[in-house]
Amino acid sequence: MASKTVLHVKNVTARYGPIEVLHGITMHVQEGEIVSLLGSNGAGKTTLLNCICGLHGAKGGSVEFDGRDITTIPAEKVVPLGMAHVPERRQIFSTLTVEDNLWLGASHRMPAVSKKEIMHEIESIYTRFPILGQRRQQLGGTLSGGQQQMLAMGRALLARPKLLLLDEPSLGLAPLIAKEILEIVREIRSEWGTTVLLVEQNARAALAIADRAYILGTGSVMMEGSAKEMMHDPRVQSAYLGAH
Ligand code: ATP
Repeated sequence: MASKTVLHVKNVTARYGPIEVLHGITMHVQEGEIVSLLGSNGAGKTTLLNCICGLHGAKGGSVEFDGRDITTIPAEKVVPLGMAHVPERRQIFSTLTVEDNLWLGASHRMPAVSKKEIMHEIESIYTRFPILGQRRQQLGGTLSGGQQQMLAMGRALLARPKLLLLDEPSLGLAPLIAKEILEIVREIRSEWGTTVLLVEQNARAALAIADRAYILGTGSVMMEGSAKEMMHDPRVQSAYLGAH
């Protein structure tokens, strides 16, 4: 199984103004893993992802990525190091075509990687997400929620990330589409070997595709363990899985 630590978050604290919302989070992700970050609304999941990718400055502690301290590195400089982030509500460019959105995902890799090579990679995204291929000339804003999520994930994959951060990819999607999106996350890992840190409200679906999980409660790690253990833990079942 995986051995190299891709991400190591050590004792990270974060604030909004005077209010501390992360109280010393320690967690890690090994190469090739899917790790889920679970917890109720307001627990701090998005803030933690934002601290990891440099969108929100950690107040204390450290974030190590691929053996390098990135705690104070801003988001735009973290992406070229190999970390791609698909934020909540996707944030695709609604007035650009599907294809132009995808090009933007690879923009920082050019000219080191040729245009021809990137076009080839975009074709492989169309193979993975055929609906995007069919709609390549359509504006991003005209896609359905599920298709926009696929576009956001496709764009992130074109950064050829060592670590993909996904913030609530199933948010606002119909249950069947949400299931399909999470299934795609699992396939991306098996096809490309991409390491994934996944924030997800739907704990059951997230645990079904994850290797390990952390449960956050008001800014602290409440539980951690293998996804299988968590799925069968009565405390997790009653608090997060709606067990009967
Ligand atoms: P959700 O699932 O609802 O997105 P979450 O677990 O991702 O929740 P965060 O969004 O990280 O939680 O929020 C953690 C805490 O920080 C909450 O108490 C929230 O109200 C607060 N918070 C989040 N964003 C801001 C902000 N921009 N300014 C002030 N407080 C914020």
